[in-house]
Amino acid sequence: MTTIAKAYVATSATEPLQPGIIERRDPGESEVRIAIKFVGICHSDIHTARGDWAGVKYPVVVGHEISGVVEAVGARVKRYAVGDRVGVGCFVDSCRECVNCLAGEEQHCLAGSISTYNSIGRDGLPTAGGYSTSIVVDESYVLGIPVGISLQAAAPLLCAGITMYSPLRSWGAGPGKRVAIIGMGGLGHMGVKIAAALGAEVTVLSQSLKKMEDALSLGAEGYYATSDPATFEVLRGRFDLIINTVSADIDVDEYLSLLAVGGTMVMVGLPAKPLGLRTWSLAGFRRNLAGSKMGGIRQTQEMLDFCAAHGLGAEVEVIRASGINDAFDRVLASDVRYRFVIDAGTF
Ligand code: NAP
Ligand code: ZN
Ligand code: ZN
Repeated sequence: MTTIAKAYVATSATEPLQPGIIERRDPGESEVRIAIKFVGICHSDIHTARGDWAGVKYPVVVGHEISGVVEAVGARVKRYAVGDRVGVGCFVDSCRECVNCLAGEEQHCLAGSISTYNSIGRDGLPTAGGYSTSIVVDESYVLGIPVGISLQAAAPLLCAGITMYSPLRSWGAGPGKRVAIIGMGGLGHMGVKIAAALGAEVTVLSQSLKKMEDALSLGAEGYYATSDPATFEVLRGRFDLIINTVSADIDVDEYLSLLAVGGTMVMVGLPAKPLGLRTWSLAGFRRNLAGSKMGGIRQTQEMLDFCAAHGLGAEVEVIRASGINDAFDRVLASDVRYRFVIDAGTF
């Protein structure tokens, strides 16, 4: 038995997304079916739909910033009941046995976690993401959305929120730490909010001064345009932690020069091309270069609870499904404030 869901489908790297129909299996014993209410447009959806990354299998339904309401539960489901407000992020399963899964780092599952889209699920079928009206997921990979965060503001937390929260916690963002966020987009604006809520001194490094007022109102204390060469002189050796959210290539050496002694730059933006850098940029000032990918289920729930406790959600522009292709173009032009969220009632 299956349920029919409406969806928006990428059929090739060059065709616009178009409306279609997909089948969702009935929930297994430990699975829930979620009526999707909102889904965020993450830049990873665009990288995937437009074939920037290797290994995309078309047709694909993207979307991994999902919020909705439980509408059916399997016989052995314990954590959720029909009517609960829930979310699904970037992965929907993992081996559950390896050292990383057991440590709550399912995103780094040794067997490979099963992505919400463009993966093969346990049922042997391709996974289809949140640009659709429903999804079926094992309860262990479903998050509870606390009261106090609206479903539209919560959706982007499932990827953008946790992708920033995790490295900010891992590298100790807090009082007395100078943190810079490169790129004021979907990830970047959540990074500003979360780092400020953790008590760090936050600076935004953006291509232009256009987003300055917004950044300061979200909690940043400093804001600099990277198009101005003086920025790199003024800020040299300043930051304990830099998080790079840029979806395109950046001059890594230039940004490493902004780290203090022993400071760390964490790469979360995922451009397709390999990095180039001079090892001298790391040797001088004993700097570190690191990366980070999403966060585990336990930490994602912690992040949602943290956001609720601090009154944080994403700044969203809600669109209809028919506006997805235009929204993709606006994201690519860095023209979004600060996350497009699709109203799933319009698929
Ligand atoms: P986004 O909303 O498009 O934000 C990216 C920001 O980077 C833009 O708003 C812009 O900020 C800046 N930017 C874009 N092009 C640039 C360029 N050519 N030079 C300098 N700055 C540029 O994207 P997002 O959804 O936040 O995602 C960002 C990246 O993170 C993507 O590559 C995505 O695939 C990746 N990602 C990684 C993870 C992970 O787990 N590691 C999770 C989610 C997403 P300004 O306007 O302020 O300059
Ligand atoms: Zn994402
Ligand atoms: Zn595993």
